[in-house]
Amino acid sequence: MMKALVLEKPGEASVQDVREPNPANPEILLKVRMVGLCGTDLSSFRGTNPLVSFPRIPGHEVCAAVVQGDGIDTTVGRGANVAVVPYKSCGRCASCLRGRPNACQFNETLGVQRDGALTEFIVMPREKLFPAKLTTKELCLVEPLAVAFHAVGRGRVTANDAVAIFGCGGVGLGIIAAANFRGAGTICVDISDEKLELARLAGGTHTINSAREPLHHRLLQATEGRGPDVVIEAVGSPATFRAAVEEVSFSGRVVYLGYAKEPVSYETKLFVQKELDVMGSRNAMPEDFRDAIRLLEAGRFPVDRAVNLIVPLEEAANALRSWSENPAQFQKILVSLD
Ligand SMILES: [Zn+2]
Ligand SMILES: [Zn+2]
Repeated sequence: MMKALVLEKPGEASVQDVREPNPANPEILLKVRMVGLCGTDLSSFRGTNPLVSFPRIPGHEVCAAVVQGDGIDTTVGRGANVAVVPYKSCGRCASCLRGRPNACQFNETLGVQRDGALTEFIVMPREKLFPAKLTTKELCLVEPLAVAFHAVGRGRVTANDAVAIFGCGGVGLGIIAAANFRGAGTICVDISDEKLELARLAGGTHTINSAREPLHHRLLQATEGRGPDVVIEAVGSPATFRAAVEEVSFSGRVVYLGYAKEPVSYETKLFVQKELDVMGSRNAMPEDFRDAIRLLEAGRFPVDRAVNLIVPLEEAANALRSWSENPAQFQKILVSLD
């Protein structure tokens, strides 16, 4: 038996004994070292994630060490630290057939549609493992940064673009760093000065506190009157969903990552008049994981400032509870299983 954090029902989580997994050929047995918590885990804990059924072991942002298995090769040897791709695609749906398994109709993510990594051991196929010479903390950030790179890729961001990022929380911060890594200018929008300060450390060119400053005016000021070429929305509120199409330049691109919790009404003439590309972005592709590793290797992400709490497994339930009660107080929580 081994220990795992189990979400029993909304608002209730505890460490329990569960059965140890057995790697089926050609899977690899991994010792979990550290797991990052994100908004998805918070909504799973709260019972507001429609994709989660209970009981469920959460955890999809994983740093693990290779233990054993037939899938071991020279690049992923015993003891190697790896980041893990937590998604599992079906191979048969429209997205999979188009070579976009990140948006698989029947995708199963660790800790969401199947049990996750907040436990001592997991088994994964070799192709889901990305070894890298990074710290355990950094390896936990590979998945959320890969999601950010995917959004930036969806927006076809280049060095010629001014990219506005709405929301500088966990995901937004990664998008700022990823857009900056592509050479783009970034305009970071949030209502928290603390988050905007961190946004600058992640490579933010301009910052706008939209609670205090006139958003429209400031965006025009930062883009010579044209508006941002790309707007990436990482909040998930109706107001920011609408502002994205209102503020983006003519013939610009809008990328949505947030899930709006209620229906959003639009002035749809803007879609046509501006000839907008409006896109969703979901999960990430293997190349996004490679880019995230490159970004971290280059030291282009403020890892220590972005992570503000590391707790042992025994404290994970309490950490989720505190986060749920004071969502503004936490940026990133990591759970150590070493
Ligand atoms: Zn996540
Ligand atoms: Zn599929």
